[in-house]
Amino acid sequence: MNFSRFPLRINIGFLINAPVGTNRDFEFELPTLRYHPDQEFHDFKGTARVTRTQQGLFVQGDFETMVTSECVRCLAEFVQPLQTTFSELYAFDQRSITESNLLVPPDGYIDLGPLVREYLILEIPIRPICREDCKGLCPICGEDWNASTCEHQHGSSSQD
Ligand SMILES: [Zn+2]
Ligand SMILES: [Zn+2]
Repeated sequence: MNFSRFPLRINIGFLINAPVGTNRDFEFELPTLRYHPDQEFHDFKGTARVTRTQQGLFVQGDFETMVTSECVRCLAEFVQPLQTTFSELYAFDQRSITESNLLVPPDGYIDLGPLVREYLILEIPIRPICREDCKGLCPICGEDWNASTCEHQHGSSSQD
């Protein structure tokens, strides 16, 4: 079983020959969605609705997951929830292709993995913060101001 290498691969062969308007929901629930060792998402779940259209297969994804981030203020690791919703057309041929450049693969399987990854990455904040009011570390002595205080802590808490 090497399904786990492509956990988001779906069989859409039957939709190619189905009447326009036919759709199918593909549900996913994965404890871990791993792209490579330092890029993992946890508690991944959601649905991809695939609809047969004239031009191709229209995919509407709705997913949520958790990712471990490092707070830019206090450097602590924390778990960040992510949510993404997207729509993309996998075209039957070049004439209908969108700027996303997706074609229905001839083997009848679509691997949503790369697409989902792109959308999830967009949802990760560039400057993740463990919580809205994280006080950060003292720039002088490194004390974690969330846990305690130090002699350098005066009024100016404009860390970010
Ligand atoms: Zn923090
Ligand atoms: Zn200090």
